[in-house]
Amino acid sequence: ATPMSIMTATGRGAQAGVLIRNAEALERFEKVDTLIVDKTGTLTEGRPKLVAVLPEPGHDEAEVLRLAATLEKASEHPLAEAIVAGAEERGIELGSASDFEAVTGKGVKGTVDGKRVALGNLKLVADLGLEAATLTDKANVRRDEGETVMFVMLGGAVAGLVSVADPVKETTPAALKALHALGFRIVMATGDNERTARAVAARLGIDEIRADVLPADKARIIAELQAGGSKVAMAGDGINDAPALAQADVGIAMGTGADVAIESAGITLVKGNLDGIVRARRLAHATMRNIR
Ligand code: ADP
Ligand code: MG
Repeated sequence: ATPMSIMTATGRGAQAGVLIRNAEALERFEKVDTLIVDKTGTLTEGRPKLVAVLPEPGHDEAEVLRLAATLEKASEHPLAEAIVAGAEERGIELGSASDFEAVTGKGVKGTVDGKRVALGNLKLVADLGLEAATLTDKANVRRDEGETVMFVMLGGAVAGLVSVADPVKETTPAALKALHALGFRIVMATGDNERTARAVAARLGIDEIRADVLPADKARIIAELQAGGSKVAMAGDGINDAPALAQADVGIAMGTGADVAIESAGITLVKGNLDGIVRARRLAHATMRNIR
């Protein structure tokens, strides 16, 4: 690539909010055939809202939410913010939490008003030797709507579930259509439940998903695809996504996401939507065509 043509491409990209780190990133991106996209914050707004609280028989709805929100007060996860905001909107007064512990990719644990409380996905439920009991069917109904379900555990039992919805970004469907038309194989990766992931993917016409992945799994999935001969770009926004962005042939960070994701990326989308990938691909093609 001539320095001039690269400069033109990066300049045009920058004007459109697509920051290309260097010539290498642009050259590599032209060869990418597989695009891995994180779900939360990349395909979706990343601002989940609490939409349901369902107690197990014998438990109280407001109390289930109070326990969950009291614990989540100490967490910075977007899911935690949704639960705390939901409790505040319902006028629920929070208790006092101690021994707070975040369990990466699974949830949170701690003590609320002297009682052991945990909140998270089925992996966390299983880790604690518990079962979702009577709520399994109701949980699946929520997941089929694309919601993220978290179980609230009190002492030695599941006391209820909370469910949050995170709307798809307005720009996502059209961007995915354009990316498919450009020939990318698109794979959605998420720490979220398989059933939730499938519901979101189906709405967006994504036919390949990797769900229930722990943060470290995302980098491993990319390495496996690369070992199979694929050239992989990964689009993500979170702190957890940084290792995967670094592993990818081209890491693509949402400019609205975590600083560490941006630092690990070859391309940054200032506006935080996937339209920028379409533009980056066209720029890469045009630049490389001029050179050959
Ligand atoms: P993602 O790939 O969507 O960014 P994470 O690895 O952050 O996912 O989280 C994966 C799953 O772990 C979530 O869908 C949720 O079920 C559970 N989880 C993570 N953090 C929390 C939390 N603070 N409270 C409740 N559940 C959580
Ligand atoms: Mg994310």
